[in-house]
Amino acid sequence: MSDNDLACYRIHITGIVQGVGFRPFVYNLATRLGLWGWVLNSSSGVEIEAAGPVAVLNDFVRRLRDEAPPLARIENITVAPCDPAACDLRPVFRILHSEARPGEFLPISPDVAICDDCLRELFDPRDRRYRYPFINCTNCGPRFTIIRDIPYDRPNTTMAPFVMCPECQAEYDDPANRRFHAQPNACPVCGPRIEFRSRPEGPSLYGEEALQAARRALAEGLVLAVKGLGGFHLACDATRDEPVLRLRERKGRVDKPFALMAFDLATVERFCFVDEADRALLTSRQRPIVLLRRRPDAPISPHVAPNNRYLGFMLPYTPLHYLLLEPADGFPPALVMTSGNYSEEPIVTTNEEALARLSALADVFLLHNRDIHARCDDSVVRTFSGAALPIRRSRGYAPDPVRLPFPVRQVLAVGAELKNTFCLTRDRYAFLSQHIGDMENYETLRFFEDMVEQLKRTFRVEPEVVAHDMHPGYLSTRYAQALADRLPLFPIQHHHAHIASCMAEHGLTGERPVIGVAFDGTGYGTDGAIWGGEFLIADYGSSQRVAHLRYLPLPGGDAAIRRPYRVALAYLWATGLPWEEDLPPVAHAPAVERIVLERQLARGVGVVPTSSMGRLFDAVSALAGVRQEVNYEAQAAIELEMLVDEGIEEAYAFGLDGGEIDPAPVLRAVVADVRAGIPAPVIAAKFHNGVAAMVRDVCLQLRLATGLNEVALSGGVFQNMALLRRVVRLLEEAEFAVYVHRAVPPNDGGISLGQAVIAGRA
Ligand SMILES: [Zn+2]
Ligand SMILES: [Zn+2]
Repeated sequence: MSDNDLACYRIHITGIVQGVGFRPFVYNLATRLGLWGWVLNSSSGVEIEAAGPVAVLNDFVRRLRDEAPPLARIENITVAPCDPAACDLRPVFRILHSEARPGEFLPISPDVAICDDCLRELFDPRDRRYRYPFINCTNCGPRFTIIRDIPYDRPNTTMAPFVMCPECQAEYDDPANRRFHAQPNACPVCGPRIEFRSRPEGPSLYGEEALQAARRALAEGLVLAVKGLGGFHLACDATRDEPVLRLRERKGRVDKPFALMAFDLATVERFCFVDEADRALLTSRQRPIVLLRRRPDAPISPHVAPNNRYLGFMLPYTPLHYLLLEPADGFPPALVMTSGNYSEEPIVTTNEEALARLSALADVFLLHNRDIHARCDDSVVRTFSGAALPIRRSRGYAPDPVRLPFPVRQVLAVGAELKNTFCLTRDRYAFLSQHIGDMENYETLRFFEDMVEQLKRTFRVEPEVVAHDMHPGYLSTRYAQALADRLPLFPIQHHHAHIASCMAEHGLTGERPVIGVAFDGTGYGTDGAIWGGEFLIADYGSSQRVAHLRYLPLPGGDAAIRRPYRVALAYLWATGLPWEEDLPPVAHAPAVERIVLERQLARGVGVVPTSSMGRLFDAVSALAGVRQEVNYEAQAAIELEMLVDEGIEEAYAFGLDGGEIDPAPVLRAVVADVRAGIPAPVIAAKFHNGVAAMVRDVCLQLRLATGLNEVALSGGVFQNMALLRRVVRLLEEAEFAVYVHRAVPPNDGGISLGQAVIAGRA
């Protein structure tokens, strides 16, 4: 066959190829090359039939891959020649209607922040969408949050009720237009609109009037409930104390940091130190909240993030945000943008719910009439060694699948309890849900159940097995158990799942086990104790606990977690260190409580043994006088991290005796330093240095014993950058290959991935 011979190719493309301008790209490319044929979206990807000279066809296939639109992610292209005589060929290239094939699936795109082209039009007075809050195109706009089913076509989205005006329809139908088949395409004539209310019963303002009323309210220091992409935010001026304090009081949120939004990068840089990696994340199409070190003189209310060196900033990601934050005299340069919910409940997504449930939190409302189908919280990341380390993987990332190193059977992995996500698998894909939240109440459980059903449908997954944590008390475990009459259950130890999630996201095949270091606050152990300072030799099939922190008594479970001084007292007691008034946690505990606690410890009643690293951080934080009681998870450890004096190289030494790592020498040294008047930042540094050195030393012993050289770090404690930096540095100096989380969070938000792969592989 010569290059000029005519041929016909059937081309099948899988990956993220819908809702990203792929068909117009194919159409334009084929038309330019003079090929005949067609392209269509199917529920398993994009199908193309193309006919023309062989050389041109081969060029076409190569350019499909090389020149694909920026948001597309091609997983696979298969090309099969077909018989031109048998094909329905016409001398044109056409875009055909979508085809749904039962049982087939393909990934759908997460929501995408407004693109530069749309942003330019938004502020261009000559544009017909000038200041229109719902401007979008094939390269940007809502996706996951508005999609009801696949294929991704307008009737399957919450844009279905909006009938395009002739101008929008013409754009939508014109393959040369950048809104060709942009499913949420809309304009002020035919699309959604915003609505302002100063009280739930109305009256309403619309359009630019609504926007200006909302901005005036913010400038006056009021709290605004504003509907975004995946739910409502509560917004207020972040530079003044009163609005921030009022919002804290109403939300019942004492110290937990609030997220912030500023109009542009330059403004963020006035408040925080921003490096190259931070900048890339802030401006990425995912637009997560990025944790940034605050400038000491940043004019942000101290109540935004008390006792924290970091501020969580994001840039606007919808046109409405850009309009809302537009700089002007007297308008705040930064807004608090926190989830529109009561603590621990899912964020509110509908206007009705907002008006009813947020009226005690917000003074005024900015609504709109494009429905949110899938609730989705903002994502949170920080940078480590020049790349992202996810803290919460949600809007902008979900439901992008994690590609697995091998195919697995279909699994529903229900995750853990706090920061829950779940995971569905199919072939080589792991679909992690968006952030579901802390599974502690009925509303969150219902959100979880609804999303499981929705994502099963969307990705055509029919689980063969349900993976869950071993903790009998988790709502997620009970959800799994309720399915036991229909599906086999697969209980998985918490820290094994942590390590497996880190292995899977790095594409490790598991042929060789890794040394897994799993440090967190709480995880149910196979012996019923609370684990959390664990060294495992693990692959996907098995996990062997080879070293751990020596058990210390944790009195009264959850109560101790909220009161680090009780953990400190219990640890002192177990270490034989007397409770003397000069130690901050002793001074903090009322005398009566001490008597009761001592009796409880002596009798071992209501006392659980724990190897938790999180609790050890709590105890040291309390002993150093940093934090005795917490108002949000891990607060004591976070505040200890914030104090670390980077100039200190000394380290507290753990006792290392085989598989038992003894914190007693550390506790004794901390007590001695406190008594010697050593300042907390020095104690914090010596403690972080000591934990890092202990990790290195244990890994060296394990390498000697096993020959294994790969170390996976997982668990919520590794969100602590001061610790992570030290651990990675020491391990790399000792020539270990070190894996840290890059795709899913090290905390329990990443655990469903590990569960899914363990159960999927089995
Ligand atoms: Zn755009
Ligand atoms: Zn229109």
